[in-house]
Amino acid sequence: MIFDLPIPILGFAAYSGTGKTTLLEALMPKLTQAGLRVGMLKHAHHNFDVDKPGKDSYRLRKVGASQMVISSRNRFALMTETPEQESEFSYLLSRFDCDKLDVILVEGCKNIAFPKIELHREAVGKPWLYDNDGNIIAIAADTRVESCLLPQMDINDLDAIARFVLDYVNSAQDVDKNVAACCDTLSPAYLSVEQGRDKILNLVSPIAEQETCAIERAFGRVLARDILSPIDVPQYTNSAMDGYAIRGEDIGLESFEVAAQVMAGEAYEQPLGKGQAVKIMTGAPTPSNADTVIMREQAKQTGQSVTFTASAKVGQNVRLAGEDLARGAEVFSTGQRIGSAEMGMLASLGFASCNVTRRLKVAIFSTGNEVQAPGGELQSNTIYDSNRFTLIGMLQNLGCEVFDLGIIEDDESLMIEAVQNAVSQADVVITSGGVSVGDADYIKFALEKLGQIDFWRINMRPGRPLAFGQIEGKPFFGLPGNPVAVMVSFINFVEPALRKMQGQLGWQPLKLSAIASEPLRSRQGRTEFSRGVYQLDSHGQLTVRTTGKQGSGILRSMSEANCLIEIAPSIDIVKVGESVTIIPLQGRI
Ligand code: AMP
Ligand code: MG
Repeated sequence: MIFDLPIPILGFAAYSGTGKTTLLEALMPKLTQAGLRVGMLKHAHHNFDVDKPGKDSYRLRKVGASQMVISSRNRFALMTETPEQESEFSYLLSRFDCDKLDVILVEGCKNIAFPKIELHREAVGKPWLYDNDGNIIAIAADTRVESCLLPQMDINDLDAIARFVLDYVNSAQDVDKNVAACCDTLSPAYLSVEQGRDKILNLVSPIAEQETCAIERAFGRVLARDILSPIDVPQYTNSAMDGYAIRGEDIGLESFEVAAQVMAGEAYEQPLGKGQAVKIMTGAPTPSNADTVIMREQAKQTGQSVTFTASAKVGQNVRLAGEDLARGAEVFSTGQRIGSAEMGMLASLGFASCNVTRRLKVAIFSTGNEVQAPGGELQSNTIYDSNRFTLIGMLQNLGCEVFDLGIIEDDESLMIEAVQNAVSQADVVITSGGVSVGDADYIKFALEKLGQIDFWRINMRPGRPLAFGQIEGKPFFGLPGNPVAVMVSFINFVEPALRKMQGQLGWQPLKLSAIASEPLRSRQGRTEFSRGVYQLDSHGQLTVRTTGKQGSGILRSMSEANCLIEIAPSIDIVKVGESVTIIPLQGRI
């Protein structure tokens, strides 16, 4: 269910003047007579008040009660002041006592994403909403639209509208039962980005197989075992400076006898006697009882005798054995991804190889009759396949082994064959195209025959449609077709899943806050991922602008961007100077 509600929600969307309230007023008795317990949410003008001036509750609120519950035998009301900003839609929904309701109906809130019936009267003279709003699931109007594929009702036929609402509530409850039973449904579900990601992450698990990998080839691999230091680092107590090593107890003596000179790689094996010093180089081991080093710049050596020009403290300029890392201490834990620093660190401990999870095998293909492989002359009515190549790049970046299965025509049996082939050789299958609600259903039929696949509508842009499920126990991702949507969906859903499968632990994408240098728009109820360029301005402040036009097919915007700008579902406008979340892309695509 959407917004984490245990019951269905259904809106009525219309321009003012269409008669929403009048219709709902007439509809409500039909719903309640059928046994439905209805909750209603309505958006009103900003200065509305349910209270009446002069009433006790009104007076108490006016002098400062920010929440006020007033109750009597028959009803109670909670009034909450929200002077800073209007409460979020999902928060308002959470105020309902859903145990006592079967459905929440919403009047207004046109711009928030959840299923709605569009009400339309020709006489009002306003445009249709359904062609720009994928949340509209039916229309009730005083005219028929032949080109519209949604269920249509007569706006004056209240029985038909009531039947639609009752069916909607019943089928939503059925879907919910199915979800509870098998986590699977073929009807498109609405999910937030987090909900989609959580569901996916819950369904994938790390691969068990591991292998040994030479350190020089370990870049990007994930450690399959904890690394304990086999040695003390540093291995021996040594000098941090070029200078003279002495016994701390001798500090204050007038002059010292220089007993020897110790270079890096050498050692002075005897203990120092009283008043003795050794001339020592940085990194060279200090004599067993020398615990203090005086730097060369503070020393004057004449022949075999040295005097010091500055006072010294016991223990200064000496690095103790095991000071950085003691033998047996944990250096890295299982699940650490190996980068350049880790390669150096492992080598510094004497490891020539390490245990890593085996490479993840990922099969990919593109779908669509209009999609043509690059290399030949562009045919009429076709486009070159770009999705496979962005996917190959992003997968290589994650250290995966890619099985490129090319382009599959829009055909059910070819699709079945391709997916079976993919599943037989890979751990994960990723396709692009063919999962939008408007698409031909052949992919859906094919996937339905092969395994348990959910078709989701994610409240995000770009990248709303997403198919996810398991075929023979292997995760399947059906990404949208639009090139930018493919990349944004990959970043949000596929990458976290692959990282988990590779055994990487504790990975979170880097998110920062930057000041918008241009106004940004989104739509309430969905997460907007604009392509952005962030930089430090002349005051040292992180600022961000978009790359310009944000169409989901404009791959150039991804290439120009160095970050995604993430506008949360609760925000519809970000003004210049306001801060916004950015997700740097460096190292990810
Ligand atoms: P679909 O979801 O299959 O309807 O595709 C949505 C849009 O993405 C259509 O305009 C497709 O032509 C385009 N598209 C689909 N697959 C690819 C691909 N592999 N490379 C580039 N564009 C694609
Ligand atoms: Mg297609």
